[in-house]
Amino acid sequence: MKEGFLLVISGPAGTGKGTVCNALLEKDKDIMFSVSSTTRLPREGEVDGVNYNFITKEIFEKMVEADKFLEHAYVHTNYYGTSEESVMKGVADGKVVLLEIDVQGALQVKEKHPEVVTIFLLPPSMEELERRIVDRNTETEEEINKRMENAYKEISLVSKYDYYVVNDDLDIAINEIESIVKAEKLRVKRNPKIEDYILEKGGN
Ligand code: 5GP
Repeated sequence: MKEGFLLVISGPAGTGKGTVCNALLEKDKDIMFSVSSTTRLPREGEVDGVNYNFITKEIFEKMVEADKFLEHAYVHTNYYGTSEESVMKGVADGKVVLLEIDVQGALQVKEKHPEVVTIFLLPPSMEELERRIVDRNTETEEEINKRMENAYKEISLVSKYDYYVVNDDLDIAINEIESIVKAEKLRVKRNPKIEDYILEKGGN
C-alpha cells in the first residue's frame, strides 16, 4: 500500500475553512481529518473528540513537555496543537491527513516534513472577511478586532505556502482544492513503485 501525505489548510478565521474541509471529507474518502487539541471552550454544536479534543491548559502543557505535538501554537487567546502520533499513523495507513491549522503551525509542519502540501485559503477581500466574521455572530467586538488583526498578519505569509485558493464561490474553491489533492496523489515521488507495477503487468 502506498503512503499518504499531510495536507495543511490555513486561512484567516472567516474564510470558510471549516465548510471547505467538511466538503472535502465528504467527497474524498482517502482524506482523514486531524482532530486538534485545544484549550478553547467548545462553541455551540461542537463535539469533543470530533471537532477538537477540548483539554485544559495544564494537560496541554504536559503534552508539550512530553513532545506529543507535531506542532502547536497560541492562536488568538488559546492553545492549539496537532498530535504527532495520530497524523503519522494516518499517513502510514495511506490517508491524506487534513490539518486545519494556523500559519505558525503550518510553518512548523513544513520544517519537520517538507513534503507536506500546504494550501492557503484566502477571502475575496478584507471587507468581505470582516462581514463574514461579524455575520457569524459568535465573537465579541474585541474578538472580531483581534481576528482581523491576525488576518492581516496571516495573509502576509501566503508566500510560504505551496498553493492558494480564493474562497469567493464555495463550489469553485472546493473544486480547486480537490484538483490539488488529485494532482498531489499522482506525484511520482509518492508512488515510487509505479514503474514495477506497470512492468509486472507484462506485455509483448
Ligand atoms: P477556532 O478557534 O476558530 O476553531 O480556530 C482558530 C484558529 O486556530 C484557526 O486559524 C485554526 O486553523 C487554528 N487551529 C486549529 N487547530 C489548530 C492546531 O492544531 N494547530 C494550530 N497551529 N492551529 C490550529
